[in-house]
Amino acid sequence: MKIIVNGKEREILAAPLTVAGLLKILNVERPDTVSVQLNGEFVNKEDLDKTLLKDGDEVEFLYFMGGGSGKGFATRILHARPLKEDPHGSLQMPIYDNVAFEFKDAEELEAAFLGRKPAHAYSRISNPTVEYLEIRVKEATGALAVMALSSGMAAISNLVVAIAGSGDNIITTKHLFGNTYSLFEKTLKEWGLQVRYADLARPKEAESLVDPKTKAIFFETITNPQLEIADAKALSRIAKDKGILLVADTTLTPPYLFDSAKFGVDIEVLSSTKYISGGATSVGGLIIDNGTFDWSKNSKLKPDAKKFGPFTLLNRLRREVYRNIGAAMSPQSAFLQSVGLETLCLRVDASCANALRIARFLEGSKKAAAVNYPGLEASPYHELAVKQFNGIYGGILTFDLGSKEECFRFINGLKLIRRATNINDNRTLVLHPASTIFCEYDSRLKKEMGVRETMIRLSIGIENCQDIIEDIKQSLEALR
Ligand code: PLP
Repeated sequence: MKIIVNGKEREILAAPLTVAGLLKILNVERPDTVSVQLNGEFVNKEDLDKTLLKDGDEVEFLYFMGGGSGKGFATRILHARPLKEDPHGSLQMPIYDNVAFEFKDAEELEAAFLGRKPAHAYSRISNPTVEYLEIRVKEATGALAVMALSSGMAAISNLVVAIAGSGDNIITTKHLFGNTYSLFEKTLKEWGLQVRYADLARPKEAESLVDPKTKAIFFETITNPQLEIADAKALSRIAKDKGILLVADTTLTPPYLFDSAKFGVDIEVLSSTKYISGGATSVGGLIIDNGTFDWSKNSKLKPDAKKFGPFTLLNRLRREVYRNIGAAMSPQSAFLQSVGLETLCLRVDASCANALRIARFLEGSKKAAAVNYPGLEASPYHELAVKQFNGIYGGILTFDLGSKEECFRFINGLKLIRRATNINDNRTLVLHPASTIFCEYDSRLKKEMGVRETMIRLSIGIENCQDIIEDIKQSLEALR
């Protein structure tokens, strides 16, 4: 029978022939990662060996790159295999800090550009070292696809640009990381995106804002720096019911701390600059697609959904938005983050254990007020945190002092803890959010954003806990 494969007619003698059989005959590399279309329609993986081909059928298959047991999370990170094994047997994926890749002939180069070969063509689009980080996160999380970007903000902006356009809206809360609020409220608003704010602790409020132009509900699993926790399952029920995407910024609770698919999150975006980088070695971001969203429900991506099925977002990103915006992670950063990822679980456990001990210490201190940490029984979010997270509650806590001046005196009095704007570093860091990340907002907006002049944020590292406590103690005692 005659079948058109990737635009070329092929005479195939085998009959009856399934799509899976055809991939085998054609020696398609990594058939588990390929997206297959029959007569322009996506074929589900489970149907590949049930779908019979007939004379004149058109079959197309595409690679998007960046896509991948019963083993544990840390084991899966450590033993994930790259696309191609290193010719020297290097156990660590080397840094391919190159731009271009050579092909043996023009046909191969064309096939790589068309996505008909699992190959890298140009490092802004995909790169072996960056892909290895993507594969490791994909293996560990069981996601459909993972994409690594130049920063957490690049992950958020690429995702929103891919799923929504001018006139569309997303529903979120004002209790967000300051730059994310600025991205939504300034940068993307100027391009026609509408942003609707709700109190996500009241899912019904979010539900009442959904209209036919709503593309997503966006929330932070633990908001920075308010440390509020939304009920992900409740938001997911609304998103599913309304046919919109549920997107979680999981920066404060990366995979291992939070199993996003289990709680109905369709897409995770996160700053891998934090825990994953292994101690603030490099800036980076990840988009993790759990493969749970039916893209035919998103009017912008609907035209692609028939052809690409669950790979619709990955196709739109890799072959348009991510490629065109040029927010690729650098191979150097990908190497550092891949090495960082190897010890993620150890470092998350250590920093969360320290954070809980320090939160308890501050709770007992007469100087610190409003001690806020989801691991404390007194936190209004404790019950949700126990349900949603992996028995640990993140490395960030906040508390209040009497005034901004007192906050500054406390910060200046610290001898060990570093004054720096980052979170989930290996070192403990301190910051006054109102005068730094939120300094561009007036006092009314800061209030709406839940950022007080009297609030101090601590990001707890992995030092010996008693040393951190002693430093906090001496600076608090010097306040009088
Ligand atoms: N989302 C949250 C919750 C953050 O805290 C941050 C940075 O602190 C970001 C996103 C942005 O990440 P990046 O600095 O990697 O762009």
